[in-house]
Amino acid sequence: MIDCIFCKIIKKEIPADKIYEDKNVLAFLDIMPINEGHTLVISKKHYEDFLTTDEETLKNLIIAVKKITKAVLKAVNAEGFNLGLNNKRVAGQLIPHVHFHIIPRFKRDGLKHWSGKKYKENESKLIASKIKSFL
Ligand code: AMP
Ligand code: ZN
Repeated sequence: MIDCIFCKIIKKEIPADKIYEDKNVLAFLDIMPINEGHTLVISKKHYEDFLTTDEETLKNLIIAVKKITKAVLKAVNAEGFNLGLNNKRVAGQLIPHVHFHIIPRFKRDGLKHWSGKKYKENESKLIASKIKSFL
């Protein structure tokens, strides 16, 4: 995609702190890290989001994510990590090119989990059966 920032990084038109590359996948540091070592793992082929990405590419991505995560954790001495994928604008996706976030986590890094809310009576059963009907 001509105006896509991540495609430009792939084509070396803009710089990035690259940490891994193979035929299908590229990984580099996020320019605005949530924690040090925050890494983006992207598909070399442009797909707008997770749901439009083909299965083979998703396999390649997630296998690379696992390999890269191990290295990131060692490099920054992190105890854990969050794996993120923001899908569509409403969910905070700013760059419409499929990517996973590897976010290293440390004790007392100040990040908070999003909070949950309760279902009303029987609401969960209804939603579960509705979802099942679409599968
Ligand atoms: P998302 O909101 O899931 O689309 O995430 C996009 C991420 O890309 C954000 O965390 C940005 O900080 C990051 N980002 C944007 N431009 C660049 C860039 N040129 N190099 C590295 N990371 C970038
Ligand atoms: Zn792109």
